[in-house]
Amino acid sequence: MNYDMPLFRPPSEAFSLILQPTIGCSNNTCTFCGMYKMKKFRIKEWAEIEADIREASAYAGEVERIFLADGNALAMGTEMMVSLLGRLYETFPGLKRVTSYAGPRDLLEKPMDGLKRIRSAGLTMLYLGVESGSDEILREVRKGVDSAGMVEACRRAKEAGFDLSVTVLTGLGGREKTRQNAVETASVLNRIQPDYIGALTLTPVPGTVLYKKMREGEFTLLNPLENLRELKWMLENLSLEGCLFRCNHASNYLPLKGRLPEDRDRLVALLEDVVQNPGRYRLRPEHMRGL
Ligand code: SF4
Repeated sequence: MNYDMPLFRPPSEAFSLILQPTIGCSNNTCTFCGMYKMKKFRIKEWAEIEADIREASAYAGEVERIFLADGNALAMGTEMMVSLLGRLYETFPGLKRVTSYAGPRDLLEKPMDGLKRIRSAGLTMLYLGVESGSDEILREVRKGVDSAGMVEACRRAKEAGFDLSVTVLTGLGGREKTRQNAVETASVLNRIQPDYIGALTLTPVPGTVLYKKMREGEFTLLNPLENLRELKWMLENLSLEGCLFRCNHASNYLPLKGRLPEDRDRLVALLEDVVQNPGRYRLRPEHMRGL
């Protein structure tokens, strides 16, 4: 496949065919994110997308899952997305699901009937970066929406019928706002009630605004135990009706997984023990962490 590198996908899409109908991120302003800084956002021409599908069908064989890259494929117009999904299900008869990242702005701006058509055409799940529930932190990291906008974007995704997987970032408020990040993020997650939560650990990336702020002493990075304490505070404040919680990304110091609400108290107790007795646990060393 003729990919425009680098290419990113959620960990749960490890076995999916990745198509790249869009390049880069339509937002690309977040101060902590270096994923698409080298790319100018564009939606591929239909002829390019068709050529990618032809190439994929020639070598990929049986395909059950497809992930649409890059950072916000939902920025594509509704008609084009519906046509793309139709072509994918036609080309790959065994296809069971198609997923993509989504930006909150597109969920807010697309009419509901357009979102529902995209869902009916077979885009089954959206991955959305909530990052933090704190308006102050969202503003500082230039996410592009506040917490109310994020909640509304997620509500619209659910109303349209998408499964919703969100990510949050522990440590995004630095040491100064660690409690605030935990409590306000939990509050927003409670309002969203996502199907899946992925908790990632902030890892400043060279070349980003946040990295520069950290180097210049304007942002204090949490240490591993402070990060795990923040995660514990967030879990303590979660009140979810049914959600798969994962904290097993390469950026995390301690892999965790559980169903909420059932496993919440077990996870909180484990994190409390790690914070109180760190010598009993082997945390992922810095050199093995990644994004
Ligand atoms: S965090 Fe998401 S929305 Fe922000 S720049 Fe990175 S890919 Fe784009």
